[in-house]
Amino acid sequence: MSLANGLHANGFDHADDGRARPDDGLSLRFWGVRGSTPVSGPDYVEFGGSTPCLEIRCGTRLFLLDAGSGLNACGRHHRDALPRDIDLLFSHLHIDHTAGLPFFKPVVLDPERTINTWCGNLDGESAGPALDRLFAPPLFPVSLDILPCRLAHHGFRAGETLTFADGARVDTILLNHPQGSVGYRFDHAGRRLCVISDIEHSDPWPDPALREFVRGADLMIYDGMFTEGEYPVCRGWGHSTWQKGMELARAAGVEALGIIHLHPCHTDDTLRRMEAEMQAAMPTSFIARERQEIVLPPRPNPVDTRARAQPAAALAFP
Ligand SMILES: [Zn+2]
Ligand SMILES: [Zn+2]
Repeated sequence: MSLANGLHANGFDHADDGRARPDDGLSLRFWGVRGSTPVSGPDYVEFGGSTPCLEIRCGTRLFLLDAGSGLNACGRHHRDALPRDIDLLFSHLHIDHTAGLPFFKPVVLDPERTINTWCGNLDGESAGPALDRLFAPPLFPVSLDILPCRLAHHGFRAGETLTFADGARVDTILLNHPQGSVGYRFDHAGRRLCVISDIEHSDPWPDPALREFVRGADLMIYDGMFTEGEYPVCRGWGHSTWQKGMELARAAGVEALGIIHLHPCHTDDTLRRMEAEMQAAMPTSFIARERQEIVLPPRPNPVDTRARAQPAAALAFP
């Protein structure tokens, strides 16, 4: 499927083995696109049933975004091909974004591995205390400290720019969601990718700060859990619609739009119909499928896309 000029979506069969892309571009693979709870069965074959987990690569540099149940398949696919130190960025800690963490095998079974978690929706508090409450008897048979890998939990405040020890930088923004959620922006090789989930749109919409945050993105991933028909009875639940994603994309000059956090009741048939409606309005939009990969090749003579970003307080994390 060709989504836009220079932007390609490939099926899993064409995926690589986890090594760097020869073109050193910006890439994204969906390991889980379902919201709220995993689903399975014949109605969920095409789009998949695992909860959110995204693999993002800026050239050779890996980021994982969220630890939903899709993290298990990510670990099994890559096995030893993942780096020794892994940065796992949380949008937030609701259970559909965290439940996969102890099942990230074989990484969690390897004493040589470190998983750095990054949490930005709790006023600077890291994910550590919340994850320790979740993964403890009687909710979970063991605590996370029994895992052989090292877990290092880092807290930040959404809105800050994350600067990692290797110089990689990721911009963040606070999203409207119960207990807050963090949107992320990745700039690499003249390309921009934004992941904006979980979010409930505001009134008026689009929110000006969010519009500036995603401005000029080659691809924006957005929370499209509800249809416009469902939304009125789900107001305040913290999610949005593809129509609101499209409004934001258009207002911000976003090239392509991908929808995630799919409702557990939305079957393949429903989603295919929804996608046809979306693409009639915006041909470069799509509903994400589990294991789908998007590659943004480097832009020739890349401009400094960071210069387009709004100023953000920079923090250095050793
Ligand atoms: Zn969620
Ligand atoms: Zn949530």
